[in-house]
Amino acid sequence: MKFIGDLHIHSHFSLATSKQLTPEYLDMWGKIKGIKVIGTGDFTHPGWIKELKEKIEPAEQGLYKLKKDYIVDSPIPRFNSMEYDTRFLLSAEISSIYKKNGKVRKIHSVVLAQDFETVEKIQQSLINIGGNITSDGRPILGLDAKKLLEMCLEASENIFFIPAHIWTPWFSVLGSKSGFDTIEECFEDLTPHISAIETGLSTNAPMNWMCSFLDDFTLLSNSDAHSPEKLGRNANIFNTDLSYNNICNAIKSGSPDKFLGTIDMYPQEGKYYYDGHRKCGVLLNPMETLHNNGLCPKCNRNVTVGVMNRIVQLSDREDLSNRKNRLPYHSIIPLKEIISEIVDVGPNSKTVTRQYNDIVNSLGTESEILLNLPIEEINNRAGEILAEAIQRMREQKVIISEGFDGQFGTIKVFQNGELKNRKLS
Ligand SMILES: [Zn+2]
Ligand SMILES: [Zn+2]
Repeated sequence: MKFIGDLHIHSHFSLATSKQLTPEYLDMWGKIKGIKVIGTGDFTHPGWIKELKEKIEPAEQGLYKLKKDYIVDSPIPRFNSMEYDTRFLLSAEISSIYKKNGKVRKIHSVVLAQDFETVEKIQQSLINIGGNITSDGRPILGLDAKKLLEMCLEASENIFFIPAHIWTPWFSVLGSKSGFDTIEECFEDLTPHISAIETGLSTNAPMNWMCSFLDDFTLLSNSDAHSPEKLGRNANIFNTDLSYNNICNAIKSGSPDKFLGTIDMYPQEGKYYYDGHRKCGVLLNPMETLHNNGLCPKCNRNVTVGVMNRIVQLSDREDLSNRKNRLPYHSIIPLKEIISEIVDVGPNSKTVTRQYNDIVNSLGTESEILLNLPIEEINNRAGEILAEAIQRMREQKVIISEGFDGQFGTIKVFQNGELKNRKLS
């Protein structure tokens, strides 16, 4: 069966995350968003594991579902139907800060596990090395990422280890500030255990195709959600039977029959896409940064370098079609952002929420609307302006302002003033 999975999120036990990151609300939002398999996040945290054990029960091999008693009524009636039920897959993100080859490295890794037994073994190993796993759902350890991988493999051969958002400047395996220049420098002889990497919110698949040294890895997209509503903003499309092993095998093989590709927000929307200085109001693309010797033309100090620049520096390929295993990728704009642009009020406003609820209730899950529903059907049931917006998004005919130096970029589908004279439906 075809389904969408988002394997890297956080729970309410992670710092600075929503209190609603509970199994109940993840299940509820998974249904609305059309995310079938949801990573639990934070499995290193004993409090979260206690809560999960209470609220979820085994379903297919290595997957869990919310117990009946905990299912909450959806504010959107359509999603109270059983056909939208979700699954949980045990996952965690771990932050490693350590010195290697003379430099401080800060690397985030995502780990998937098939059962609570494995999770508890990993927890115990982390405690044994003196790690603090109770203060943050994403623990920070002074542990070499390679050692972490080794430790997880000792807990179970069937874990799945994924370097997280690999281009983030400060916290990733290839990050410009504290990462490495290759995956091998980090994982050495254990590199064969890495079969996938996470592209992160600031890059999409084609950007990663620029680097031939990533050809051996399946490119994954996950939301890294810090609130349930952000679920699925980046995600993966699978075509397998439901089970932990099938999902991991689909990723490992990267087979275009089993792993149908990724869903990504436009990477330009990420806060570290291009280079520049937010305070100086200076935005530079990698070429301009090169011409300015890496300096801000306004204050003459080093600019904050974004992910595109880092990719260009490590890239060795101009003709992207030379990467053989290219899988489909879908660039999306979250539905609330599209509605927000149309009605010209904030995406978190009551007006947008009301329209959003009406639209998904009438048309189906958010991912179905964004990716698959015939434009004509959207036109007939939600109006021509939304239909046109979604068509433009699917065709990538959008207006982009790139994010830089901590400032989010924006993606719009209509020109300024274009909607002024059109009747809103
Ligand atoms: Zn992270
Ligand atoms: Zn400056």
